[in-house]
Amino acid sequence: KDIVRPENGPQPEQDYTVGNVLGKGAFGVVRHVVEKETGQSYACKSISKAKLITKEDVDDVRREVEILNLVSPHTTVADLKQVYEDRYAVHIVMELCVGGELFERIVAKGTFSEAEAARHFRRMVEMVAHLHALGVMHRDIKPENFLLTDQTDAADLKACDFGLSDFFKPEQRFSALIGSAYYVAPEVLRRSYGPECDIWSLGVVLYILISGMPPFWGDNEKEIFTSILRGQLDFQSAPWPSISPAAKDLVRRILTFDTKARANASEILAHPWLHRHGVAPDKPI
Ligand code: ADP
Ligand code: MG
Repeated sequence: KDIVRPENGPQPEQDYTVGNVLGKGAFGVVRHVVEKETGQSYACKSISKAKLITKEDVDDVRREVEILNLVSPHTTVADLKQVYEDRYAVHIVMELCVGGELFERIVAKGTFSEAEAARHFRRMVEMVAHLHALGVMHRDIKPENFLLTDQTDAADLKACDFGLSDFFKPEQRFSALIGSAYYVAPEVLRRSYGPECDIWSLGVVLYILISGMPPFWGDNEKEIFTSILRGQLDFQSAPWPSISPAAKDLVRRILTFDTKARANASEILAHPWLHRHGVAPDKPI
């Protein structure tokens, strides 16, 4: 994919008709755009350089683009179409996912059936397996950063946000406290971690998909962190007593403190719970 990066080069407005705002993040705004030549819809994430204070901030955006370029195309990632960079902003044009955030779907549905949870979870694990194989860790796995391709129950999940992702080398340890409170791994809180932190966050998402509740919670960040470091899993409250033992076993295998003992992405994909629920169990025929 071409990365356009001249000082006063073409703007997305030349190639796209810019529409309404789809979402907002920490740095940027994501808008619906339509390619003039084809009439095709896309999403355009625009990050204003005015908000990027340090050179590191600018490097972070370049890294986000570099990583999106490396990991896409893949079935589990919103396709990168084009990138524009000028003096004022970086614009990332990518596949439009019209089904909204997985987070909104969880709120709307309360909980998923085990079969539905397994189908979405499999995609997220496949995404992480794909990233880790390329030497990239995501660091911000949470339901807000996965989008559904359409409004139906058969919609597929795609990862859209690689803003906190970074490259890792084998055995390399990181110390930056990065991520979102409910999903952050204990070793991240202890400031010595590697790509296994993504697996922990996946476990938190799995627990939420099945029960509608985060496994570790509190009234503020400090309390949430204390709960994470205690690591006590509640399988007593509803709906856990009626959830399959295989699902609980998988949650336990993932939400394990010891990063060496924690299941990795391929072990999760081989787990009986994901096998039992097949590849696409509730696609309408
Ligand atoms: P940030 O890095 O600032 O968190 P995101 O990349 O997560 O920004 O985008 C913010 C929001 O914009 C997302 O949570 C989502 O609601 C929306 N969004 C992002 N990418 C797309 C896309 N490809 N299709 C549709 N909506 C999107
Ligand atoms: Mg985001």
